[in-house]
Amino acid sequence: DGLIWLDGEMVPWREAKTHVLTHTLHYGLGCFEGVRAYNTANGPAIFRLKEHTDRLFRSAHILNMKMPFNKDEINEAQRAAVRENNLDEAYLRPMAFLGSEGMGLRADNLKVHVMVAAWSWPSYMSPEAKEQGIKVRTSSYTRHHVNITMCKAKANGNYINSMLALNEAISGGAEEALLLDNEGYVAEGSGENIFIVRDGVLHTPELTSCLEGITRATIIDFARELGLEVKERRITRDEVYIAEEAFFTGTAAEVLPIRELDGRQIGEGKRGPVTEKLQSMYFDAVKGKLAD
Ligand code: PLP
Repeated sequence: DGLIWLDGEMVPWREAKTHVLTHTLHYGLGCFEGVRAYNTANGPAIFRLKEHTDRLFRSAHILNMKMPFNKDEINEAQRAAVRENNLDEAYLRPMAFLGSEGMGLRADNLKVHVMVAAWSWPSYMSPEAKEQGIKVRTSSYTRHHVNITMCKAKANGNYINSMLALNEAISGGAEEALLLDNEGYVAEGSGENIFIVRDGVLHTPELTSCLEGITRATIIDFARELGLEVKERRITRDEVYIAEEAFFTGTAAEVLPIRELDGRQIGEGKRGPVTEKLQSMYFDAVKGKLAD
């Protein structure tokens, strides 16, 4: 039920279809966003809308896809998807993909299609996980294909290893995966950036093998507001084992404490004080209690 914005029109959910010869379905060249709307004092508001739309356009540019709409139109499409579906809190999925106008890698008559879907998706992780933290496994799958050339794009094809890593982590009894980069440094979770606290300083991998997370940028700002030192640098896997605290950030996962990596307890094995503070600032911000 509900409506999906597709190529400039609102269409009923069941009719928002694409052909089996959709180029992106075959070859994976496409880009998307994950955005959230929260219920604030003034009604539903999309958190960091401009930043998400900007990143969608940067991703399309990297993939050499010409967006057939401008940023204002895509912003409005996202607002309309929330409004017209009467959602208070929503997860939004804008995506740009290549149509079924041609097949093969050489096809040059392909159209860029854009859609925005919105649905109610209150919690990605249980409230308990947000308080107690989750168990994570380092994956045998790496971000190798994403390093350097593709990590700025939130591209469909970048998620193959994320999914394989997540499946591997879950079948190994953990709740999330940690992916390393080409050289064995810590990159990110399957759909989250990672932070650790060591000696009271916040550390997060530099932007060479992980997505330029919007939540990551928000958390760095909050940490600096609190007077915490933040270092963006290469992090090794064993540094996570001996960190005082570790947490993931992402639009879907929000701020999620990590209590264990590869069977090693991290810090006290529960949400630490820095994580708790940043998490509460984040929830205040998304609910509109702090100025955006
Ligand atoms: N890393 C990856 C691979 C992601 O898919 C995401 C989610 O979009 C993130 C990090 C976190 O980014 P953001 O905070 O912008 O949602």
